[in-house]
Amino acid sequence: TKVVVVGASHGGHQAILELLNRYDNLDITMFEAGDFVSFMSCGMELYLENSVTNVSDVRNFEPKLFTDQGVHVLNNHEVTKINADKKTVTVQDVKSGDKSDYDYDKLILSSGVVPNNLPVPGNNLENVYLMRGLDWATKIKAKLEDSAVKNITVIGAGYIGIEAAEASVKAGKNVTLIDMIDRPLGTYLDADMTDILQKHLEDKGVKLVLGAKIDAYEGNGTVSAVKTDKGFFDSDVVIQAAGVKPNTKWLDGIVELDSRGFINTDEYLRTNFPDVYAVGDATLAYSIPAQQKMPIALATVARREARYVTKHLFEKKPAVPFNGLVGSSALSVFDYHFASSGLNSTTAAKANVKVATSFYQDTLRPSYVPQDKNNPAVYVSLVFDPQTHIILGGAVLSTYDISAQGNVLALAIQNQMKLEDLAEADFFFQPGFDRQWSLLNLAAQHALGDAK
Ligand code: FAD
Repeated sequence: TKVVVVGASHGGHQAILELLNRYDNLDITMFEAGDFVSFMSCGMELYLENSVTNVSDVRNFEPKLFTDQGVHVLNNHEVTKINADKKTVTVQDVKSGDKSDYDYDKLILSSGVVPNNLPVPGNNLENVYLMRGLDWATKIKAKLEDSAVKNITVIGAGYIGIEAAEASVKAGKNVTLIDMIDRPLGTYLDADMTDILQKHLEDKGVKLVLGAKIDAYEGNGTVSAVKTDKGFFDSDVVIQAAGVKPNTKWLDGIVELDSRGFINTDEYLRTNFPDVYAVGDATLAYSIPAQQKMPIALATVARREARYVTKHLFEKKPAVPFNGLVGSSALSVFDYHFASSGLNSTTAAKANVKVATSFYQDTLRPSYVPQDKNNPAVYVSLVFDPQTHIILGGAVLSTYDISAQGNVLALAIQNQMKLEDLAEADFFFQPGFDRQWSLLNLAAQHALGDAK
C-alpha cells in the first residue's frame, strides 16, 4: 500500500511518525519542495538569540530517521498536480526540472502556508524580509550580527512579529514595531493584558506604531524607510510578519478550496477526492469553543490532525469525526510570559460567538510573601458563554512562568467545562506555589462575581 505525504513540516512529520508506529509494510514517500528538510520555525527565535547556534539543528527531524526505516524522503521535489482519476501525483524535481508521476493509495497533504509579502510599492527592495523557514532565518541572523544595521522595522505585532522585535532589541538594534490594529498581540489577548505588554515592550525600547497603514517601503535598491500614514521610519531592514496565506496555488482547480484558498475538508479531514486528506495550516481547523472551522495556524493543530488522519486512514468510513481543537499558544515577551487558549474577544467577534469576559489580578502566593520574593503579580482572563458559563477561552500572564496553568485552562475549554467547575476544581495549595485557592479557582470565582 502506497502512502504519499506532501510537506515535511509539522503535519508531514507527525503523519509519518504515526504511519510507522501504527502500520506494517507501507510504502511511504514524503515529498518536500524545499532543500532543507523540516526546519522548525517555532524554534527560530532561539536561533536568532543564540540559544541554538547551528541553524541546521533547528529542525523537526533528520531525513535519516525515516529513510533508515524505509521511507522515501524526497526533498527538492515539488508536487505540482494530483491526478485523482489515476491516483497519481505529478512531481517536479526542482533541480533538474524533470517531472514524473507517482502512484498513491492514500495521499496526505500538509502544504502549509506562505508568509504575506505586503502588496505595497517597494516590497521587492533588498532587505525587505519575511520570517519563516531556514533561508529567512539565516538572512535575519546575518543582519542581527551586522553592526552596520542600526534600524530594524518589524511589520505585524502578532507572536511572530514580537519574536522578531525581541530578538532585534537583544541584538542591540533600534526597533520599530508597526501594526494596523491598535494593540500588540491584539488577536491573541484581550486589552487588559495587551496594555501590560504594550507598556513592557516600550520599557524595553521597542517603538510601537499602532493603528498604522503601511503605504510603501522606500529606498534606492535597498530599503531605507517604511512610509506609513503615521510617518516615516528609518529602516535598514524590514521584517514582515503580517499574516500568512495557504500554500495551495498548486491545488487551484484540482482540489476544492474555499474563497481564501484554504483546502476544504470534511469532519473526517478528507478533501473532495477519495483517499486524499489534508491537515495543518493549509486547512481551517474545527474550533471546539467556536463550534466552527477557523484558521488556527499552529504546529499543535497540524500534529493533532495528522494523528487523527493516520489513525483512521484505512477505515472505510472513519469511526469518529475529528474532535476539534481549542488552539493554544504561549510566548515570552521579554520578562513576561503568557499562555492563551481558545477564543478571546477579537476572535469570538470574528466567529460571531457571543461572549462575556472577566479579568482577574492577584499575587501568585499569599500576600504576606514579599513581591520581590517570587510573589509577582499574576493575571488571568476568562472568556465564557454569558448564558451557560461554558468557558470558551482564556489566558494567563505573569513575569513568573505560569504557562502550565494555561494548559489547565486549555483542558477546561476542550472539555467544555463551566466557570462553576473551574471555581471549585480541587487544585493543590502550598504557599511556595500558590494561594489558599489556586489562581484559576480564584479567577473563575471572580468571573462568577462571588470573589472580591
Ligand atoms: P508548514 O510548516 O507551512 O510546512 C509546509 C511544508 O510543505 C513546507 O516545508 C513546504 O515547503 C512544503 N510544501 C508546500 N507545498 C508543497 C508541494 N506542492 N510539494 C512539496 N512540498 C510542498 N506553532 C506553534 O504551535 N508553536 C510555536 O511556538 C510556533 N512558533 C512559530 C514561529 C514562527 C516564526 C513561525 C513562522 C511559525 C510558528 N508556529 C508555531 C506555527 C507553525 O510553524 C505552523 O503552524 C506549522 O509549521 C504548520 O505546519 P504544516 O505542516 O501545516 O505546514
